[in-house]
Amino acid sequence: MAIATVNPATGETLQTFEALGPEGIEVRLAAAHDAFGRYRLTGFAERARLLGRAAELLDEDQDEVARTMTTEMGKPLAAARAEAAKCAKAMRWYARNAEGLLADEVPSEADVRDSGAGTARVVHRPLGVVLAVMPWNFPLWQVVRFAAPALMAGNVGLLKHASNVPRTALYLEELFRRAGYPRGCFQTLLVGSDAVEGVLRDPRVAAATLTGSEPAGRSVAAVAGGEVKKTVLELGGSDPYVVMPSADIERAARIAVTARTQNNGQSCIAAKRFIVHRDVYDDFAARFTEGMRALTVGDPMSEATDVGPLASERGRADLEELVEDAVGRGARALCGGRRPAGLDRGWFYEPTVLAQVTDAMRIHREEAFGPVATLYRVDGLDEAVALANDTPFGLSSNVWTRSAEEQRRFVRDMEAGGVYFNGMTASHPALPFGGVKRSGYGRELSGYGIREFCNTTAVWFGAET
Ligand code: NAP
Repeated sequence: MAIATVNPATGETLQTFEALGPEGIEVRLAAAHDAFGRYRLTGFAERARLLGRAAELLDEDQDEVARTMTTEMGKPLAAARAEAAKCAKAMRWYARNAEGLLADEVPSEADVRDSGAGTARVVHRPLGVVLAVMPWNFPLWQVVRFAAPALMAGNVGLLKHASNVPRTALYLEELFRRAGYPRGCFQTLLVGSDAVEGVLRDPRVAAATLTGSEPAGRSVAAVAGGEVKKTVLELGGSDPYVVMPSADIERAARIAVTARTQNNGQSCIAAKRFIVHRDVYDDFAARFTEGMRALTVGDPMSEATDVGPLASERGRADLEELVEDAVGRGARALCGGRRPAGLDRGWFYEPTVLAQVTDAMRIHREEAFGPVATLYRVDGLDEAVALANDTPFGLSSNVWTRSAEEQRRFVRDMEAGGVYFNGMTASHPALPFGGVKRSGYGRELSGYGIREFCNTTAVWFGAET
């Protein structure tokens, strides 16, 4: 895939970039390795000062970097600004909390004695150079979600960003440089995915994190496995959104529209499969469809737009194939199911609700990465749980119910890395983020995230005799 900025609202190529060759990659690998040798010796106060400065600069740049993101991948401008603000907030959260999250842990006196020690403790030390392979859908957030904890832990980062967001990738490198990070602490590698294996196999790279599709994750994990290097994988999702009879149906339907169409429908944690109890199905389906139909599709730079274009022509074609397959096998489009009239230049698609979906359809098992929802009617809780779990993915899940007993059952039984009640899934620095099954492994954010790229070390002192 060429490294280029192509405006998805117009299809116009605005800039192309030369990929780094072997020499350029070598210079950056050496710089990262050298930087780690010194940066790992810095204290939390210095790391927090640098990250705090990066957050300040990001706030100052918010409008400009939002425009860059919208130009490169098509998210509505207001959402791009919110993404930049969220990144600054996460940077400040880790600047404030990293020291506490990585504080030494001391076992109980009895356990220390039992181990034969005079004293013992657990310390969290940085791992080294971490390669981050990142997607275009939240081009700032996905990177900051990795970089803020990794840098606070004393690691250094090498970013291989998606090939369609090179301006955002270069902005990030520049942001950390302007914040005062020593040379080599955070660098962008403008390379295609074919260069990832070589970088990952380099002995100077300690670990990798990948956010993206399942094939990309499998490929990086296989290489890392061969090298016995730690990986964290954040892959696709097809999150269920279950609505039970005790729910506030008006709110559940209103938030369902946002949960499905945020980021033009291209979010891993978007609700994708809407599983509704038969007692409230008709009411929910009518309100949800009306809400989806009412969305304004158009120029993502316009403040009036709710849903912009898909990020790539290929992405739209994939989505169209899923819808055509479903409709060909008997699904009914309650709204959408086609390209919007009058928006011929970009890669737009109408918000779509599909009913009468069955397991014979591809969309039942595959991730719909665009504004297309599938609706299912169920008879009760057991059927809702079974259908929610009938997917290869297990990223997050949403459930609308006011019944404490039902909530307990869903927490016990949902095969997902999150269970969000009476609201939509959203990441927060204090809560772990990640999935099970084909959605990947490992966690980002919170204390769990920052420890993923640490060498958790047992320190033991023999008892004086
Ligand atoms: P993608 O094609 O997998 O690309 C993601 C990144 O991986 C890009 O930097 C890409 O580089 C690189 N890549 C692709 N194939 C690779 C390979 N064989 N070896 C090494 N690197 C490779 O995914 P996408 O289409 O950009 O993103 C959409 C997917 O990401 C969806 O499935 C979505 O659910 C998932 N996602 C997951 C999360 C999460 O947190 N779980 C968050 C956001 C998105 P190039 O661009 O150069 O190909």
